[in-house]
Amino acid sequence: MGLNIAMLSIHSSPIGDLGTRDTGGMSVYVREVAQALGRLGHRIDIFTQHSSDRQDPVIDLYDNVRLIHLSGGVNGNIAKSDLYEYLPNLLFDLKSFQSRQRVAYDVVHSHYWLSGVLGAMIQEWWHVPHLVTYHTIGVVKNRVNHTEKESEVRLANEKRLADVCDGIVVPSAKEKEYLIQYYDAQPDKIWVIPCGVNLERFKPVDKAFARRRLAFSNEAIIVLYVGRYSPVKGLDHLFKALSYLGHLDSLRLVLVGGDSEHSRMYEHLQSVAKGLNIHHRLVFAGRIRQEILPVYYSAADVLVVPSHYESFGLVTLEALACGTPVVATPVGAMKTVIQEGVTGYVADNLDARHFAQLMEAMVLKQREGDLSPAEIRTSVTEWTWTRSASLLLEAYQTWTDA
Ligand code: UDP
Repeated sequence: MGLNIAMLSIHSSPIGDLGTRDTGGMSVYVREVAQALGRLGHRIDIFTQHSSDRQDPVIDLYDNVRLIHLSGGVNGNIAKSDLYEYLPNLLFDLKSFQSRQRVAYDVVHSHYWLSGVLGAMIQEWWHVPHLVTYHTIGVVKNRVNHTEKESEVRLANEKRLADVCDGIVVPSAKEKEYLIQYYDAQPDKIWVIPCGVNLERFKPVDKAFARRRLAFSNEAIIVLYVGRYSPVKGLDHLFKALSYLGHLDSLRLVLVGGDSEHSRMYEHLQSVAKGLNIHHRLVFAGRIRQEILPVYYSAADVLVVPSHYESFGLVTLEALACGTPVVATPVGAMKTVIQEGVTGYVADNLDARHFAQLMEAMVLKQREGDLSPAEIRTSVTEWTWTRSASLLLEAYQTWTDA
């Protein structure tokens, strides 16, 4: 018999605009695992906050998957920074929905600490197992980001959650180590379950066609970045690395994602690029829908992941699935996913000159035809969301079968 699963994704909707400040890998994760669990015959209700008057309170997303918008008593969007205060209101809405619908949930899986706090309230109320996925860990973010600090409330709640929840799901072994080191999490309640990639969506597109479509010349060296413009993403590091590659005249760095051209981060990046005299080599492509992203991945010589911190790093799997190699810093799942010299390189450290050398080496390999897009894609074909969902089920069933 299928399970009734409540997923909490309060601060970021699984159908939000990917690439914006607070909407990225977590939304993709929730959407994809829910869809895969639904296909396996389980029923999933994803709870998020109401963000616009026009949204239906309940949307049928996929087979067996519903998206439920909770208003928290507010007409419109509640800013992320205010959400903590509104959690009791959202709890009220969630409980009303559950009793109106008479659904008995077998398990609650919350995403990010704000949903975790809500999940911990629900866990007591419904007496159901509660699993948490942090997606990012506040203490680790603070260690690498010196411009914005995560709040004490966040850190204290993350530590408390590690203690009170029944299970923690992390996407990489590194995250498990961090949770043990910083929050004293019990190792035996942490499940390492890797993320996946949608292999139907992310597949190679003919390179010449992709370049024509994006108006990139065949001769240009295209280095691609895909992601949010958050300080942890290491764009400063990447720009510095690029400044060491002045001898590669035709190199262009294409940046996909980010907030509008009027955002503070965009202006900051422009001024850093000007300071390093690399601004003429940048192409700001803006946010691109996932359906179109394979054209970007396929047009590129290499995808770069210059992050100071990632809990996993989905864009790496997406690029590899499109047959494009990746050069990355040693974060998240990079060392597990990338095969050294065959599908990319993982830097030993965060030194920008070293990163530049790896980018150049990978571009050279690409130019000399030393890489096989087919082999690169094959290297990730086992990383499916169906696998992630099956492993999640094993975790859920530890309690539901007991
Ligand atoms: N993404 C997108 N369009 C953009 C930028 C990003 O669809 O313009 C998607 C990308 O395909 C990936 C996700 O956003 O699935 C980013 O996930 P990742 O794990 O790389 O980073 P996170 O956002 O979790 O830090």
